Amino acid sequence: MDIAKLRDGILKQDRRALARAITLVESARADHRALASELLDGLREVGKQALRIGLSGTPGVGKSTFIESFGMMLTGKRLKVAVLAVDPSSTRSGGSILGDKTRMERLSRDPNAFIRPSPSQSHLGGVARRTREAVALCEAFGFDVVLIETVGVGQSETVVSEMSDLFLLLLAPAGGDELQGVKRGIMEMADIILVNKADGDLKSAAMRTCADYAGALRLLRKRPQDPEGFPKAMTVSALQEDGLLGAWEEITTLTDWRREAGHWYRRRALQADYWFHEEVRQGVLARLETGTAKTAIERFGAEVSAGRVTPSAAADKVLALLDVKSS
Ligand code: GDP
Repeated sequence: MDIAKLRDGILKQDRRALARAITLVESARADHRALASELLDGLREVGKQALRIGLSGTPGVGKSTFIESFGMMLTGKRLKVAVLAVDPSSTRSGGSILGDKTRMERLSRDPNAFIRPSPSQSHLGGVARRTREAVALCEAFGFDVVLIETVGVGQSETVVSEMSDLFLLLLAPAGGDELQGVKRGIMEMADIILVNKADGDLKSAAMRTCADYAGALRLLRKRPQDPEGFPKAMTVSALQEDGLLGAWEEITTLTDWRREAGHWYRRRALQADYWFHEEVRQGVLARLETGTAKTAIERFGAEVSAGRVTPSAAADKVLALLDVKSS
């Protein structure tokens, strides 16, 4: 594979080159990994930056409807939009997000939009790295906005939030007056909560839900990276394309403020550091599953079970083995 050619293709905004490059970063093969690293390193200095927006919400809340109408609104403003996904469930049938292109039919036909389904990987760490690298490729290509979608399950929100400049949480109107069991940690991640389906019969419920969340957000500690009034809750209707412009204006207000105050760059620097540590951790964990370390773990496991050696002494032996290998 000609990496220089692939790089040029991306810089010339050749979508086929971008799709090929994403396939390359998604590959787990060692030779592909080396080529992917070379490509990403070569693109690092291009220095183009997109606005990375993370979007989470449980299935059925209206994510694909929202991405389609929000994406169309952005391309209508002559912005180029890429849509990626972090979907730890995509190997399971039925649970996949973005797997089905018909979900965003209009947007997928838009020449200023690019939609890429989540790589099929059960391992969240693998999906995270690949999505992060796909984001970097989309930035180098020259997209203005990269939307990173995830379903509201497990750790995937953290992963998406750690690769986004801001994080949107999409909710549906609640039936009663109870909050929808959104975990505090996820509330704390959200910069803007969007209560979707604020139309027709659901409108008044959506407004009540929005007021409830606005109240809940006010109870959270004010974050130094936010201007007055953030994080905030708003109502939208993805179906009727209502409130989308307002949401975009709030996003712009927040990002402009963060850029001016220096929080934008600080967040990216912290994220780079976070992913560096993650990669090291993942790398160490991967090494435990192969070669001498794996054999030693199996051997010591039996010894520990039989009571012939203590767990910590056995662990020290295995860890020493890793040290020897890396030096
Ligand atoms: P996802 O699973 O989060 O991607 O949700 P979808 O976008 O597939 O939407 C799930 C269902 O909610 C579909 O039947 C949509 O038509 C409906 N829906 C999405 N957005 C809205 C909205 O703004 N208003 C109403 N009334 N229904 C919506």
